[in-house]
Amino acid sequence: KLASKEVKPETSIVDVCGVKFGGGEIPIIAGPCSVESEEQIVRSAQMVKAAGAKILRGGAFKPRTSPYAFQGHGEEGLKYLAAARQETGLPICTEVVNPRNVELVYKYTDMFQVGARNIQNFALLTMLGQTDKPVLLKRGMSTTIEEFLMAAEYILSEGNQRVILCERGIRTFETATRNTLDISCVPVVKDKSHLPIIIDPSHSGGHRQYVSALSKSAIAVGADGVIIEVHPEPDKAWSDAAQTISPEHFIQLMGEMRAVALAV
Ligand code: PEP
Ligand code: MN
Repeated sequence: KLASKEVKPETSIVDVCGVKFGGGEIPIIAGPCSVESEEQIVRSAQMVKAAGAKILRGGAFKPRTSPYAFQGHGEEGLKYLAAARQETGLPICTEVVNPRNVELVYKYTDMFQVGARNIQNFALLTMLGQTDKPVLLKRGMSTTIEEFLMAAEYILSEGNQRVILCERGIRTFETATRNTLDISCVPVVKDKSHLPIIIDPSHSGGHRQYVSALSKSAIAVGADGVIIEVHPEPDKAWSDAAQTISPEHFIQLMGEMRAVALAV
């Protein structure tokens, strides 16, 4: 299998517009859950860049639990993301929810995000495998690591080798956190695969008071990056407000992560 270490013993370096995952640098991806307005995403980009983030995240297509909740601004949101990139130079990572929108998202993004809910949307994975842009593939909330790696295989087998895995917590009996961060996923994936793997402390913890601890654990366990939800005014975020941290919190956390990286 193409994701297997037997095929390639050393960790693959996935380059996203010059930002390298898997080469020991531990880049941080940050930004709001949703793109709300041009002003909001540009401000977010400026703030996370100033704190040291290397890639801007933000959803223009949102896979919400309720069909009545804000579903994202769609192409308008992609344009706002492009404006934020223009303003700051930060590459963009944004989710594509539907195979119908791959072509559209391709025009704007630097890296596709596949959300947890689409981990086994094989039509979507196959299409992304036929593009030449990197894919951030998030583990499903109920997928085993084996199934996670098999999902990656759908992209790799179509020719696109630039896949970055993301552990974002799995569903367990525990309800204190939104999902249970499966920290073991990192050493297990590193044992089985050459693909880089990053951690999402926001969707796992589900509450902003857990984001720092989980982020530091990500660095300590050997993750190749971290993706964090940050918003200029977290309490006003249109989605995932409870787990979203402020720019001040993010600046502090960046310092703490740097200290952990030096210690391990
Ligand atoms: C997100 O990144 O905002 C998101 C919806 O994440 P997940 O797919 O991991 O739930
Ligand atoms: Mn979110």
